Amino acid sequence: MRNKILSSGDTVEARCTRCKTVLNHTIVALVDGRIARVVCNTCRGEHNYHPPAAARKSAVAPGTAGVAKVAKPRALKKDPEAADRQEWIELCADIDAERGIAYSMTGKFRMNAFVRHLAFGLGIVRRVDIGKVEVLFQDGKKLLKTG
Ligand SMILES: [Zn+2]
Repeated sequence: MRNKILSSGDTVEARCTRCKTVLNHTIVALVDGRIARVVCNTCRGEHNYHPPAAARKSAVAPGTAGVAKVAKPRALKKDPEAADRQEWIELCADIDAERGIAYSMTGKFRMNAFVRHLAFGLGIVRRVDIGKVEVLFQDGKKLLKTG
């Protein structure tokens, strides 16, 4: 038995027949000390009192029996971006940006040369191609045009 004596005008948690969920309701009528009618504080609808415990069916949502949704764990294998970042940290983090060759579209860059880019910062040449190089920057690999 609860000690608190309920009276009309009190706020109680009850299941709202319109909102279909447990919400605060205001008691409008009691019968023998038990809540009989309530007004939903949300939709203002008056209805018989339904104790919140009756809403427990939501604990076992229909249609989920035996097909428990197992949240797919995030891929455990190293994602390439993280690997790139780690590589950049190992190769470039301790390098003074001044050591990088200022990038220009007509420049020539050797493998493993440090490149200083206005937007991307310091990077290191990881691949040399005709007319372009792949440079690993803090943000990841970028293809840059070269001379
Ligand atoms: Zn309601």
